[in-house]
Amino acid sequence: MRELVVLSGKGGTGKTSVLGSLAALAGRAVLADCDVDAADLHLLLRPEIRTREPFFAGHEAVIRHTACTGCGDCVPVCRSGAITAGNGTFTVEPLLCEGCGLCVRVCRDGAIAFPSRRCGELLGSDTRFGPLVHARLEPGGESSGKLVAQVRREARRLAAELGVDWLLVDGPPGIGCPVIASLSEATAVLVVTEPTPSGLHDLERVLELCHHFGVPARVCVNKWDLHPALTAELEALACSRQAAPVGRIPYDLAVTAAQVQGRPVIELGGPAAEEITRLWERLQTIGGASGS
Ligand code: SF4
Ligand code: SF4
Repeated sequence: MRELVVLSGKGGTGKTSVLGSLAALAGRAVLADCDVDAADLHLLLRPEIRTREPFFAGHEAVIRHTACTGCGDCVPVCRSGAITAGNGTFTVEPLLCEGCGLCVRVCRDGAIAFPSRRCGELLGSDTRFGPLVHARLEPGGESSGKLVAQVRREARRLAAELGVDWLLVDGPPGIGCPVIASLSEATAVLVVTEPTPSGLHDLERVLELCHHFGVPARVCVNKWDLHPALTAELEALACSRQAAPVGRIPYDLAVTAAQVQGRPVIELGGPAAEEITRLWERLQTIGGASGS
């Protein structure tokens, strides 16, 4: 099983559109949406949810009103301003509570419980292109890096159990903790970038990250024909970092039409779909004898 993680230096480069089409081309694959902060792969794949598992991370303070004596000691120690008193009743606003636990220590009456915080849920679904492991983060839910790690662990387990050829991972944007959780020990990364000045900067950062974690990278430029000169710069940068350019996807209105219909562009055809098909053929060499 080869694991390909699709990344971009930032959101909005077309990463998920490309991954949706690769999923359609792959045939036998397990899919994972690790972009848990802004999951949108489900919009293209329209999954049928089969399993749900709650995800807990950190803690939150909850005042037990039967035990609270109303002394007010907990209010000034909360730097988040999460504890308020209304009509003599002290309560914690869950969205403001950072889970530091200081109020629990300060309360001499033991009136503050400190349960694990439910931050979201891990979902297992069926799609027309294969099983999808994804997640839903609660509003204000934290520890998305941990949730990404859980999505990936489950997707890897499922891929091994089913004996599929590919695990295709939609990675989070940026270079933070969730990205690191999604790429370590992958077979390869495909970076989807765009020909803009910020695209150049973002590509440099994400390639540095791949290099740091020893994961081979490939690069494809989306909407390359909007700025051919910058596309050439992006590809030169990729080559200088041992990341082979493997595709130039042209600007194509079919991509937008496919998004509106909730389908991968590969199902509509057109110049972008044709180039993504060639891109997929070029990606078949990853994880080969060369180890790249
Ligand atoms: S410190 Fe404890 S007893 Fe005092 S107001 Fe806060 S929760 Fe109630
Ligand atoms: S756990 Fe920390 S952030 Fe949450 S209410 Fe208590 S003091 Fe405030």
